[in-house]
Amino acid sequence: MYETGHNQDVSERLMLALHMLGQHGSRGRIAVEVAMRVLIVEDEPPLAQAVARGLRAEGMAVDVALDGGEALARAAVCPYEVIVLDRDLPVVHGDEVCRQLVAGDGNGRVLMLTAAREITERIEGLNLGADDYLAKPFAFGELVARVRALGRRAHPAHPPMLARGDLAIDTVRRLAYRRGERLDLSKKELAVLEILVAADGAVVSAEELLDRAWDEFTDPFTNVVRMTMSKLRRRLGEPPVIQTVTGTGYQIP
Ligand code: CA
Repeated sequence: MYETGHNQDVSERLMLALHMLGQHGSRGRIAVEVAMRVLIVEDEPPLAQAVARGLRAEGMAVDVALDGGEALARAAVCPYEVIVLDRDLPVVHGDEVCRQLVAGDGNGRVLMLTAAREITERIEGLNLGADDYLAKPFAFGELVARVRALGRRAHPAHPPMLARGDLAIDTVRRLAYRRGERLDLSKKELAVLEILVAADGAVVSAEELLDRAWDEFTDPFTNVVRMTMSKLRRRLGEPPVIQTVTGTGYQIP
């Protein structure tokens, strides 16, 4: 899309990206799916939970399945962008889970976790259709980078920069700007803002935000959406950009 030269400062890159977006019209169609939903399939609960916590801290909505059968059941009802799949799993082996996921009609990408000694079996795994591989034990930063890369491939139309009004979001570097000034947002605030900006003026319900930016462990009766929205509004400053549409949801008109 655009070159990110090392000598360009952030505002130059921003102007260039906004210009690129502008060529498609300021209200151009932008893929709406932005907050990434990830399924972790791992039969060691402490590892599964540690990875889930880490990815949630990156602003992703994360569910966990502890065996292959549970993984297939979850994937059948929820469109995950990325499935982090341990290979050696009880009930249904990871290879079979991968086969079934690839044969299904979802467009989720599979990152297979495999023991280091099995990495030589990489080709065998590739034939199963997994999109990427990571040897255990892995560095967490490496996992995050690969999950993000696969998430972008799951949505090839998703542009690296989203913009609406005086807001701009760099979806690759996970940074948000207002009038060219960088905003200090938490991961969750950024995920919510990204969904609203990508909605391109449409109203997004609290339920939809909860569904896409949080995960299944979030109590639907909590005030998390309202609390995050109120913090996000404070951080965005004046004049207000997010409107509440009574009884319907939120929008950036
Ligand atoms: Ca295992």
